[in-house]
Parts: sequence; C-alpha cells; structure tokens
Amino acid sequence: MTNPERDPDLVTCTSTGEATIEVLAPRDVPLGGPRAMRVRRTLPSRSRSLIGAWCFLDHYGPDDVAVNGGMKVAPHPHTGLQTVSWLFTGEIEHRDSAGNHAMVRPGELNLMTSGRGISHSEVSTAATGTLHGAQLWVALPAEHRDTDPGFVHHVPQPVRGEGHEARVFLGSLLGSTSPVPTFTPLLGAELLLSPGTRLELDVDPAFEHGVLVDTGAVRVDDHEVERGELAHVPTGRDRLVLLAGDAPTRLLLIGGTPIGERIVMWWNFVGRSHEEVVAHREEWQAQVRAGDGVVTDAQRVRPGRFGVVVGDRLPPIPAPPLPNARLRERG
Ligand code: MN
Repeated sequence: MTNPERDPDLVTCTSTGEATIEVLAPRDVPLGGPRAMRVRRTLPSRSRSLIGAWCFLDHYGPDDVAVNGGMKVAPHPHTGLQTVSWLFTGEIEHRDSAGNHAMVRPGELNLMTSGRGISHSEVSTAATGTLHGAQLWVALPAEHRDTDPGFVHHVPQPVRGEGHEARVFLGSLLGSTSPVPTFTPLLGAELLLSPGTRLELDVDPAFEHGVLVDTGAVRVDDHEVERGELAHVPTGRDRLVLLAGDAPTRLLLIGGTPIGERIVMWWNFVGRSHEEVVAHREEWQAQVRAGDGVVTDAQRVRPGRFGVVVGDRLPPIPAPPLPNARLRERG
C-alpha cells in the first residue's frame, strides 16, 4: 500500500473534498423533430464523455404522451455499443434487425448489443399515458466491438433495507448481483430512498460512478445533486454515502472501470476513428437510399451491417450531415 502522504494522486483519490466530485447539469435536447419529446442529456457533456464504459445518458419525463406524442423513434442504426432502456413509467415497444421484439416496462432491463451493427425502432405503446425513464449507452471495448448483435431482457429482484430499495440490473450492489454478462466491469442500479435516508454503499474502488437524480434530491458526500443532474465520483473510493433530501428520492447509480480507450462518438455510432464513423454512416445512408426501411420478405433476409428491423413499417431515419470538422476522439 502506498503511503498517501508521498503520493499526491492518492491524496486526491481518497479525499472527500470539493475537487473530486463533479456535478454535471443536463442539456435539453429534442429527440427528433421540433415538436418531438425532449430529453435531458448528461452524457456526453462538455467536461466528461465516459463514466466507466457508460458513454451516453438521456433522461426524460414524466411526460404526458397526449401533449408531445410520446416516443416514436423509427429504425436507426448503431455500432460499437450497447443500449440500456430503463423505464419508471410507461411502456415502449422495441424491434430490431436481429429479430428481437420486446416490451420495455418499468423495473425491467432491456439491453441491446449492437456489436458490429444493428438497427432498431422504439415506440411508446398506445396504453402509455405518461412516459418517464432513461436510455443509456455502453461503449464496447475494442476487442469486442465487432461482436454479434444481441438482446437481453432481465427483471432484477428488488433488494430492500431500512429506507431504501434497489434494483441492480447490471453488476453488483447491496449483495445483489445481476446475471447479465457485460464486456467490461459495470454497475447499473435504480435506488429508491425514503426522505432523509442515509445509505452507505460498499463499492469497487476500481470503478468510477455516476449518480443521476430522477426525483427528489440527494447529497453525495458534501455535494447536493438536484433532479436531472449527474454526479461523477472518481475511482479510488470503496464507499459511497448518499443522503436523501426531504422528499422521496429515486436515483440511477452507474459505474464501471475506466475503459482506457479513446472513442469517436457521433450520432448513433461509437467508433475509434473519424474514417470508421464516416464509413458506417455511408453504409446506413446507402441502405436508406435503397429503401430497405420499407420491409419486404426478400429484404428481411438481406445480409448487411445493419439489417432490417423486423415488423416495423416506419421509414428509416437518415443520418444527419457530417460536421465540417473531423470527428474528435474523446475519453
Ligand atoms: Mn437507438
């Protein structure tokens, strides 16, 4: 064990002082057209691209679907990532080009692996009056990012203690371990805290963590985190102390080991270079131009990086124009 007094980096890591926790404020982003539903995006942010392998966090609602039409995301592609859909209220129908058809419901993990390429659609169901949830992405490590596309559904059993309830959908927390395999060490959990609850969590010091406040407010060490904000806690801690405010509080706790790779993230693609992302965009555009979004039986079996979403009649979403500048490596 290194003596902290002789290692300034360790002093920083074990400190509970002001400098180590960063609170990221959300950006308000329309998901599609100007009248479409809006999301609060905290990853990537200007100052932070990744928390472990988590590279994207959109938080939305509670939204009255009668007002904004709910979620209606037509077929679109992904590469190099996994998507986690986590709902608090409502229901979303998922369809993808690997043939998976799933209903996304509150408290249930739906994890889609794009691997080398997938396309999918996400549409809130007619039964949904209020839509409230989050979508997160996980960057696949270089050695696994060309893996086969796939989909996993898992319903975690809640674990309860004094003033708290947890649903651990990836990794381990509070003695609960998700059976869902991950490509890098990850944590993903929903936490419910009664007003005023102080909860100490034993965590892996090799992990960095993120605390997203969905409802209520929480203090992470000495930092107040308000609704919609994401607190980043760096590696080097074996304990997180959460203190709920005066209202019932719901959080998402994410974490993982830093991936140690720089990624290029643009639109729905996670790659490693500008050229690679440009090539994936062009492959998708070629498929859109060929009309593959209007599904015929012959097209269902056509091989290609992104495939065709089975059972969807919405036209596919074309990629936006590339920026003039080269896409930047981050992480
Ligand atoms: Mn998607």
